[in-house]
Amino acid sequence: MPELPEVETIRLGLQKYVVGKSIEDVQVRLPKMFTGNPKDIIGAKIIDVRRFGKGLVIVLDNNYSIAIHIKLTGQLIYRGPEVSKVSKVSKGKIGGELPNKWTHVLFKLKIKNEKLKINGEGAYLYYNDLRQFGWIKIVKIDEVQKLPFFKELGPEPFKDLDFEKFKTIVSKSNLAIKVLIMDQKKMSGVGNIYANDALFEAKIDPRRSAKQITPEEAKRLFDSILKVLKKGLDSGGASEISFVNVLGQDGGYQKHFLVYGREGERCKRCSSEIKKIKLGGRGTYFCPKCQI
Ligand SMILES: [Zn+2]
Repeated sequence: MPELPEVETIRLGLQKYVVGKSIEDVQVRLPKMFTGNPKDIIGAKIIDVRRFGKGLVIVLDNNYSIAIHIKLTGQLIYRGPEVSKVSKVSKGKIGGELPNKWTHVLFKLKIKNEKLKINGEGAYLYYNDLRQFGWIKIVKIDEVQKLPFFKELGPEPFKDLDFEKFKTIVSKSNLAIKVLIMDQKKMSGVGNIYANDALFEAKIDPRRSAKQITPEEAKRLFDSILKVLKKGLDSGGASEISFVNVLGQDGGYQKHFLVYGREGERCKRCSSEIKKIKLGGRGTYFCPKCQI
């Protein structure tokens, strides 16, 4: 599932390509993914794109906003005259021409720049979703934080989660440390990929009870979480199932996986075999020798 680096990569792309444009039309092809009245946003101008954990909020100039959660396989892809040279969406599974059968919502955007207009047929933001777990909600800006997903979000690395807060959260939980750091209500942004890699980086066994993590280990883990998230962000996210950036291009973090997805391969630190187990229902990868 896309995590902080992937969703932030999308946010940066939206910031670049859709801010400043107005919404000319909205086409909802799969009503179950869409809540709210499209008429509330038609004609409104996009003024900002914010991210809260793995959630995105497109802010409009008429007191409305578009809240989006891409869940497991959502994609937000921009097509317009500025990016007319960009080729097809990279992933064969969902890619190809746009819109396609996995495109469930289309936003037609108005291009103000007359010079750009000449070359293209307009601009579109496509929402594709293979598994259809994602959602789009039209809500008043001041009501975003009342939506269940946003209301329940825990503090986030690089924002309001500092080490002291992190240490306190860890010291109070009986959960396995990996399950805890992925719990979006306790702390937001870290999912399966970066939880696995951060625990490897910090040399901590993912199955250990959070309560038994020492302050020194907690510090190592906190720093490791920041390190792997930063690496993910610098790589433009990890493209595993269907993540692509707003131009439809793959990220690169999958080339840097430390343990995630590396079952049976050699540990990059001690050459032992990477094991895979299930923990909290999720595939968990670790080195039994150097993660203790
Ligand atoms: Zn090892």
